[in-house]
Amino acid sequence: MNKPLILVVEDDPSVRNLITTTLKTNDYRYVVAPNGSTAIMEATSHNPEIILLDLGLPDMDGVQVIQTVRSWSNAPIIVISARSEDNDKIHALDAGADDYLTKPFSVEELLARLRVTQRRLALMTAEMVTASSVFVNGKLKVDYAGGCAYLGEDELHLTPIEYKLLCLLSKNVGKVLTHTFITQNIWGRSWDNDVASLRVFMATLRKKLEPTEESPQYIQTHIGVGYRMIKVN
Ligand code: CA
Repeated sequence: MNKPLILVVEDDPSVRNLITTTLKTNDYRYVVAPNGSTAIMEATSHNPEIILLDLGLPDMDGVQVIQTVRSWSNAPIIVISARSEDNDKIHALDAGADDYLTKPFSVEELLARLRVTQRRLALMTAEMVTASSVFVNGKLKVDYAGGCAYLGEDELHLTPIEYKLLCLLSKNVGKVLTHTFITQNIWGRSWDNDVASLRVFMATLRKKLEPTEESPQYIQTHIGVGYRMIKVN
């Protein structure tokens, strides 16, 4: 896998150093920006493949950076937030961020998120998800054109909502989808009731999809945030 160019947006010098040192020792190329306006400028001039974005910036809200960059770029954005910024993190995901890291994070976590994002990038580049009418992930196969899904040789018997959920997750494989994003896509609205129903549908979908409840292979829960389909190797 070619190492992508990463834009690091972080105003705190110690966190920025931790990130750039990690990137350097792992042969990633990077450019840095200490605030939002520089970030937008660097994103325009360097066209980075991945953006690591701190949400608490001195000159503007990180969500604003996402909205601006999203108007011309699909580059995956991983937001970095403090625990106190949980709501900001959800707004950031709804604004088009792909994933998040919560401070304080370890070097291993950072590298793991980058690997997930690179896999997603590889899929986006190959247009395997958008161009193909069949999605394959490990033993899971979703036939969008046929409107059915299989686990190995066995057809999954899904209700219409479970199938819609599976399609939405698989079309966004690798990306964290918020409860709001999912409920708006499934029901066209997002009420508290819908989030509660979503949990129920997700539980029944997983029962059919996951080999064991204890160690889910395909769908990851992000407590208080949403769900992500994992790209199985
Ligand atoms: Ca900050």
